[in-house]
Amino acid sequence: MIQRYNFYEHVERHQLQLHPVSIETLQVNVTKMCNQACRHCHVDASPKRTEAMDQSTIERCLEILSAHETIKTLDITGGAPELNPYFEFFVTEAVKLKKKVIVRHNLTVTLDGHPVTKESRDHLPEFFAKNRIEVVSSLPYYEEYFTDKQRGHGVFEKSIEALRRLNAQGYGADDSGLVLNLVYNPVGTYLPASQASLEADYKKHLKEKFNIAFNHLFTITNMPIHRFKDDLERHGKYDEYMSKLINAFNPVAAQGVMCRTLLSVGYDGKIYDCDFNQMLELQVENHQPLTVWNFNMDSLVSRNIIFGAHCFGCTAGGGSSCGGATV
Ligand code: SF4
Ligand code: SF4
Repeated sequence: MIQRYNFYEHVERHQLQLHPVSIETLQVNVTKMCNQACRHCHVDASPKRTEAMDQSTIERCLEILSAHETIKTLDITGGAPELNPYFEFFVTEAVKLKKKVIVRHNLTVTLDGHPVTKESRDHLPEFFAKNRIEVVSSLPYYEEYFTDKQRGHGVFEKSIEALRRLNAQGYGADDSGLVLNLVYNPVGTYLPASQASLEADYKKHLKEKFNIAFNHLFTITNMPIHRFKDDLERHGKYDEYMSKLINAFNPVAAQGVMCRTLLSVGYDGKIYDCDFNQMLELQVENHQPLTVWNFNMDSLVSRNIIFGAHCFGCTAGGGSSCGGATV
């Protein structure tokens, strides 16, 4: 079959060697359940999803973190990771191991609580502060209309309230050491504008209108997979979007793709090159499929990363990763 958008061809043309460098971050997806169901969500997360990591798999992740000093960071994601019943256990145990812990927190879960059991989650800002967690939260824009268009009616207002509660714990204040980073992704088929100029705009608007402070803004390109890809195809815009990404291919950004220093773990313990490959079920193999149960550092560092058409989303313009632009 001819691949219409061949990432490997671009890698060869630019004489790039995109092998893993090391494993510094373990990004663990602990649930596909979310209190929201955003239009662009690459996880297809929603209140109806039930997949969640069990306690033994979480304990195995902790064993891996403990056994490997090179893995400095645990990055917990979902869905809304706080909806996993073992979320707080995972966080507190990883903190005891002296790992940097990042939580990808959608803000609204603090106010919405658990979408099925209705249990409250309003203690989260305090819990994060107590454990000195780095919080990374999506806020697609600093204006209500665009945020609600992408994430659902009322999301902006709740997000602002949740940000206020994080600020009240010291998050975003220069001298607190409590880091709150926001994530911007374009609403529609655009590439993100410059991270530095958008960060300045966000800071100005959020401070002036809502008295909210945060540390950094990460710009993330919308990945052409799952819900966003379906949306593009429905509107006949998939090819246009792919051309935009390919025309903006940046070899420097390609060298900085996050899969070279990160591994992603699914709720069932399977290992992937990144969260996007996880959602496409492209499990890492090196002679055998790799999971947390047969975790082997040498085998993982010598693996071949599985690239596909979606990878053009990571290499366009200033690059894109879970930590924002890469160039
Ligand atoms: S909040 Fe995040 S995980 Fe939940 S549906 Fe939206 S994009 Fe997906
Ligand atoms: S989508 Fe994943 S595998 Fe592809 S370049 Fe980005 S991080 Fe690497």
